[in-house]
Amino acid sequence: MSLLHNTIESLPGITPRKAQILKKDCDIHSWADLLHWYPFRYVDRTKFYTIREITAELPYVQLKGTIERIGLKGQKRAARLSCILRDGTGTIELVWFQGVKWVSEKLKPGQEYIVFGKPASFNNSWNIVHPEMEPFSAEKAVLASKLQAVYSTTEAMKKAWLDSKGIATLIAQLIRLLPGQVPETLPQSLRTKLGLIPLDNAYRQIHHPLNQEALSAATHRLKFEELFFLQLKLIRLNKLNKQSLKGYVFPRIGPLFNDFFHQHLPFELTDAQKRVLREIRADVAKPIQMNRLLQGDVGSGKTIVAFMSMLMAIDNGFQACIMAPTEILAQQHFNGLSELAATIGIQIGLLTGSSSKKARTALHKNLESGEMQILVGTHALLEDKVVFKNLGLVVIDEQHRFGVAQRARLWVKNELPPHVLIMSATPIPRTLAMTLYGDLDVSVIDMLPPGRKPILTKHFYERDRPRILEFIKKEIALGRQVYIVYPLIEESEQLDYRNLMEGYEHLVAWFPAPEYHLSIVHGKLKPADKEYEMQRFVKKQTQIMVATTVIEVGVNVPNASVMIIESAERFGLSQLHQLRGRVGRGAEQSYCLLVTGFKLSMDARRRLETMTETNDGFRIAEVDLELRGPGDLQGTRQSGLLDLQLADISKDQALLHTCRELAIQLLNEDPELIQPENAPIRQQLDAMVARNKNWGRIS
Ligand code: ADP
Ligand code: MG
Repeated sequence: MSLLHNTIESLPGITPRKAQILKKDCDIHSWADLLHWYPFRYVDRTKFYTIREITAELPYVQLKGTIERIGLKGQKRAARLSCILRDGTGTIELVWFQGVKWVSEKLKPGQEYIVFGKPASFNNSWNIVHPEMEPFSAEKAVLASKLQAVYSTTEAMKKAWLDSKGIATLIAQLIRLLPGQVPETLPQSLRTKLGLIPLDNAYRQIHHPLNQEALSAATHRLKFEELFFLQLKLIRLNKLNKQSLKGYVFPRIGPLFNDFFHQHLPFELTDAQKRVLREIRADVAKPIQMNRLLQGDVGSGKTIVAFMSMLMAIDNGFQACIMAPTEILAQQHFNGLSELAATIGIQIGLLTGSSSKKARTALHKNLESGEMQILVGTHALLEDKVVFKNLGLVVIDEQHRFGVAQRARLWVKNELPPHVLIMSATPIPRTLAMTLYGDLDVSVIDMLPPGRKPILTKHFYERDRPRILEFIKKEIALGRQVYIVYPLIEESEQLDYRNLMEGYEHLVAWFPAPEYHLSIVHGKLKPADKEYEMQRFVKKQTQIMVATTVIEVGVNVPNASVMIIESAERFGLSQLHQLRGRVGRGAEQSYCLLVTGFKLSMDARRRLETMTETNDGFRIAEVDLELRGPGDLQGTRQSGLLDLQLADISKDQALLHTCRELAIQLLNEDPELIQPENAPIRQQLDAMVARNKNWGRIS
């Protein structure tokens, strides 16, 4: 058994108090945990500067010089010890406010010292407050010349002498005991092939790097460690799920599908749509439950794919349902799908929170008898009273609004779980998607239907409003419609509503009846009123739709050609992209106007620039990930991405990809990892699973 499993209390040189604080503040319980407390940066002590070389850009400098004089300056509380250091190029003042007596006794004028610290400019000259000092000797100079680790600490830790230096001391102690204690987790052959240094060496070098090159090698090895085992874990789990999750078989492509495909398809499918349909078809022909994520940018045509997948179920005697995150969207899906369903005589129903009791009773009956073949709805579909005769396929639109727990509820209503197709309009790189949603297979629609004109996006400041209003007038005169969206977040709900209503009144004044008509939609309206306002816009009875983000998802009004987003700096990138996707759905040139105040944070500026530069959802998702980190992404917690310490899934995507490919190849060749040469990998995986019982529950 490796010493690494020892409790932190048993580390030589640690006090009970320090151990207690490490546990509480850093979750460090074992030697291994301490070993994984990586430095968050390094101070370069490989270089000596001369005093003349000091500039404001240097965060730290290491100098070599002779002490010229030492003396106390100032009175009482403001007293300080001042020391002048000279090298061949000039002098600099070294200053101490604390430990004055001790320092003054230690330092000897005329002697040579290595000085390390942060230079600051004071009264037109440089000084260093509380530098680290060491008498110079050739031997010491060599020792000092390396990258020095800096560790993060908390206030409580500092009080217990666990500042960065205190931690460094403990870790140095640990590393002395390390030889022979770190089991290698990768076979030699793999390490050689990939040029990875041994694990124990990597641990040593990440804490005590000899130079920049050694540090890079160590970081690379440890990132690989994190990503490779994460992928192995996820892929194995996915395989296990597939073995255990039995599902219905839809053996045939039947008359409904064929009839629709050959006679009623309103347009030619894109190649991407066809490919995805083939992938789904292959899944449902097997006696295993499908869990597939369909990624496609806004407007890429996911709905028709969902519909044709439902036909696969219905042709085989099953029912299908589609669940949407909002009532408006459910209604819209219902309208759109009803048109498609009518062409081939399929029974379709709608169930939302505002369905009447009478409608529900009828619906429940038709579902149970199997007469109703497709049910469209919101969360209301999950109510206990909703019982299908035989539900074969569930489509979930805009998955990020549904928790995993809700997905699971759908399964319990059947003898076998229905196939699940989740549609997402937040495209992210494929490898990453597979990592985030470990149990899902991923399909991608990576092209838009032909003939779409790219939306023109431009950033405006609030003072440009007169120009914006003129532009709206011109577009309306051309017969187009306009969305104007206001932010609404819970924390500032009152204020946001006031802005929305003020904006609305301002617009009504600018666009007076009877020439103009405006709709307004927000979360405080009753569903029926919301629906009424929406419908007026859909039917072109109003030219302007003023709304909060309730219209974010899925709303489809092809005649709308302008999207104006107010206070755009307050929206996230994926939200902006979703909103923009509400226009550009017809044949006309469409526009997106992002309106902001003058004060913009760096991140906000980057978001606005990204939006004006590209329409590519994948590209936008990448920047979003870079800006926000993985913490906000649905699925990160389950996937274990948040446990990554060194790897950054945004910056290390290439490595993530390599690791995934390797993991897939390895598990194909040796599914149970029983080959002798794979024993180290197997042991490491087992150890990981034993440590983290929750992994079994990833879903
Ligand atoms: P989303 O992927 O955002 O849900 P939709 O399914 O709503 O996109 O499709 C957007 C629009 O594109 C709809 O009006 C739809 O009818 C149309 N559409 C979808 N596929 C095609 C295609 N292959 N050719 C032409 N138009 C298409
Ligand atoms: Mg959609």
